Amino acid sequence: MATTSTSAWPIAIAGAGPTGLALALALHRLCGAAVAPTVYDPALALPLPDGRAYALSAAAQALLARLGVLDRVPGQPIAGMTITDSRLADAVRPAYLRFEAGPEGPLGLMVEGAVLGAALRAACEEAGIALAAHGIREASPAAAATRLALDDGTEVPAALLVACDGARSRLREAAGIGWAGGPYRQQGVVATVLHALDHRGLAVQHFLPAGPFAVLPLRDGPDGAHRSSIVWTERDAEVRRVLALPPDAALAELEQRFGPERGAVSLAGPLSTFPLSVGLARRFVAPRLALVGDAAHEIHPLAGQGLNLALADVEALAGRIRESVGLGLDPGRPEVLRGYERDRRADAVAFAGLTDGLNRLFSNDRLPLRVLRDIGLGLVDRVPRAKSALARRAAGAA
Ligand SMILES: Cc1cc2nc3c(=O)[nH]c(=O)nc-3n(C[C@H](O)[C@H](O)[C@H](O)COP(=O)(O)OP(=O)(O)OC[C@H]3O[C@@H](n4cnc5c(N)ncnc54)[C@H](O)[C@@H]3O)c2cc1C
Repeated sequence: MATTSTSAWPIAIAGAGPTGLALALALHRLCGAAVAPTVYDPALALPLPDGRAYALSAAAQALLARLGVLDRVPGQPIAGMTITDSRLADAVRPAYLRFEAGPEGPLGLMVEGAVLGAALRAACEEAGIALAAHGIREASPAAAATRLALDDGTEVPAALLVACDGARSRLREAAGIGWAGGPYRQQGVVATVLHALDHRGLAVQHFLPAGPFAVLPLRDGPDGAHRSSIVWTERDAEVRRVLALPPDAALAELEQRFGPERGAVSLAGPLSTFPLSVGLARRFVAPRLALVGDAAHEIHPLAGQGLNLALADVEALAGRIRESVGLGLDPGRPEVLRGYERDRRADAVAFAGLTDGLNRLFSNDRLPLRVLRDIGLGLVDRVPRAKSALARRAAGAA
């Protein structure tokens, strides 16, 4: 492949999760006919799986709006958030820190993973983006192009391969890119919970000794039922114990952590579990390869920022590719890849460190640490500038 071309540059995207589909749409919007993205994922042949819900930052919402997707994703604005730090048996959980929506708008927008996934897929189909239900097994980069081997045995060329294949990225490993990090020995238990009382758009994060328990407001169901999504971080052994309980006993465990503020609770569906880890790719790029989203960085969900970081990666890489193809130059050249890595690595390192530190600080019951962190939370609550800086950061506005 030469450095200039009048035909479209083929760009292969591995992974039709939210990151891969958003990248395909961003390339289509920014580069038009100059690039021809194809999204490969064997899971495209399967129904959308996701029981998760995402808290989208202002920046992530703005990107999805530009991609024509936000209007298709009815969400619940987060009007406020309360943080508590208590033991499981404590009858009362005092609020140490409270955030409220300010002049910048809500603290975030809660959207359901399956709704977001369906909207992204529909937008890609309408834009005529090629979606292929095949996995990419490996890539052989050469000076002018990279050659991809698909799971069905066929081979296709691409000017650039973008690995959006998640935290256990096979393509990252095949490229010999190291991964720093490891498992937390905690799982994220996720479920949609129905409750009797209105949540009024409020989110709650209970820092319990085993890990954070987040209650995140969802839009009322079509039948008017009040709903919230929970992300319940728990040690591996305890998750195994709870999942083995009869449904009533498992619900009682959940209720004990959920608290009484929203009235009687029931489960809208099954509990799903996600093993939690922290990890950072040692490099985000290699010849004719870029890692984007969880393939480049995996963080603890306690701050709800994984997808927000991934969408910031999407924006940065699509911008770099647009610059290159706008000059008639190859989107897979080293300058594009180095620029993308420079744009995104510091942010990912900062978030991985921040969420890892918070998880270690809060996921334990040692008295000196409890006292220190509660003084810290109380101080932040009383210093308006620190509080609003934290709220802006969480909303992706700073
Ligand atoms: C419990 C929990 C709660 C979370 N809550 C939030 C939140 O509130 N806000 C937020 O911003 N983030 C949140 N996150 C993080 C968020 O879920 C992830 O950051 C996000 O899903 C990453 O998307 P992705 O597209 O990069 O990867 P994935 O969603 O993992 O998608 C990877 C895709 O790649 C495909 N694939 C794999 N291998 C190949 C291959 N070889 N070829 C082709 N395709 C392949 C897979 O089939 C899959 O579809 C949470 C995470 C967890 C675990």
